[in-house]
Amino acid sequence: MNNLIKDIDILTGEEAQAVDYKTTVEENTGKSKKIYIESYGCQMNFSDSEIVASIMKKNGYDTTSDFQQADVVFLNTCSIREKAEQTVRNRLNHFNAVKKHKPEMTIGVLGCMAERLKDKLLEEEKIVDVVVGPDAYRDLPNLVNGAEDGRKGVNTFLSREETYADIAPVRLNSNGVTAFISIMRGCDNMCSFCVVPFTRGRERSRDPHSIVAEAQDLFNRGYREVTLLGQNVDSYKWSPEENNKARLNKKEGEVTTVVNFANLLELVAKISPLLRVRFSTSHPKDITDEVLYTMKTYDNICKYIHLPVQSGNSRVLELMNRTYDREWYLNRVKAIREILGEECGISSDMIAGFCTETEEEHQDTLTMMDLVKYDFSYMFFYSERPGTLAAKKYEDDIPLEVKKRRLAEIIEKQNQLSLERNKLDIGKEQLILIEGTSKKSKEELKGRNSANKVVIVSAEGLKLGDYVTVKITDCSPATLFGEVLEINPALA
Ligand code: SAM
Ligand code: SF4
Repeated sequence: MNNLIKDIDILTGEEAQAVDYKTTVEENTGKSKKIYIESYGCQMNFSDSEIVASIMKKNGYDTTSDFQQADVVFLNTCSIREKAEQTVRNRLNHFNAVKKHKPEMTIGVLGCMAERLKDKLLEEEKIVDVVVGPDAYRDLPNLVNGAEDGRKGVNTFLSREETYADIAPVRLNSNGVTAFISIMRGCDNMCSFCVVPFTRGRERSRDPHSIVAEAQDLFNRGYREVTLLGQNVDSYKWSPEENNKARLNKKEGEVTTVVNFANLLELVAKISPLLRVRFSTSHPKDITDEVLYTMKTYDNICKYIHLPVQSGNSRVLELMNRTYDREWYLNRVKAIREILGEECGISSDMIAGFCTETEEEHQDTLTMMDLVKYDFSYMFFYSERPGTLAAKKYEDDIPLEVKKRRLAEIIEKQNQLSLERNKLDIGKEQLILIEGTSKKSKEELKGRNSANKVVIVSAEGLKLGDYVTVKITDCSPATLFGEVLEINPALA
């Protein structure tokens, strides 16, 4: 452990007071006006909605899960694929019908679609009153007030500094056991297919004191797992002198102490052995051996890495501007297996049918999957996004039916691999954290093992938040089934 981590430890108490996470209110407080929020897309958006709810609560709005009761409806949107935007537009049509009976209802579009389309969204969707990008949520109360007085408003200012570090998120739809903590915002990577750098702006890291304080407060309130979120968590970097990475311009010869992602992981892991730590997403070019060794050192850092490969072919990866090739990726997987062993879960994102991808190159994705043996993948066919590097430079030349067929092959391969990987767990003893009821039966609960796999067990004698040692008895491609051996074994 380096000195900096000790310093940060000491500072944590003071900072926790300054941030005042204890003011978080989860229930409705009976205030008059109500907001209803629907979130689309990645976990980052769900996490942002919790920040939005907090900002609105401080300004006199309660949350409601029934839009019929809402004075303000927010759709927190995603632009990553065309279909995601279409889903939001369909939803706006639905709210249009509702608004006919309740004309005073304010409708806000937040997030990536707001950022991408800006005031065009007001022109195209007459129902919308406010359009607010991911870095402008502090302005929401002001814009909603304006809308209530009949003035439509747009704020899509992208910041180099905003991390909402001082805002204690209101946990929405919480199970009281697992929570997401946003540790950074934006992305500097410029993958050619991706709209995120344009909709979420430059990468910046959040003050580690506020992250540790948020995790500590969650733990004190009974939460037992936090997931540290960012588009590229391995490039997390914060220095006490410069506050965040965006302003980290060292002069020659100047020494700046930096908290990197491995340091941050350690700080959060040290809160308690009873607090599990997960993180997402890791970019293959950035994940370091230091991170892998930190994971190995702490039992409570879960042995699971989401390491999106996107394609198994080096030429396609270059066109995608992923800045690694097939060999680099396979070497990173080798390091994971050497340091963390075969049981570490690895998952991926895949894109089928990127511009100019040949059948042989598609086969490289399938063989990559065989080599890594992913436990799980998020799989998509390429959807051209306006303004991205790929849209400007390459023709979207793979016919839709070919993209769909290649995607089906990738999905079929993943199903086989998931089953194969899950079968290896049968007969093993694993520690799971109970986080909810099984979809199929109220008599069963679901937990997750360290490798992020869902395990179903009998609910008898168990409650949410329990750690349970189970013996895995059976599996499907998506789920493990276990027999309870011990409830809340000593973990310290
Ligand atoms: N930052 C993460 C990373 O680099 O892996 C991923 C962020 S993105 C929200 C999630 C996934 O959406 C990407 O990994 C990629 O597979 C997929 N995606 C992004 N743009 C896409 C596009 N234009 N068409 C299809 N899938 C896309
Ligand atoms: Fe998009 Fe690439 Fe950034 Fe991920 S790393 S958000 S895919 S630009």
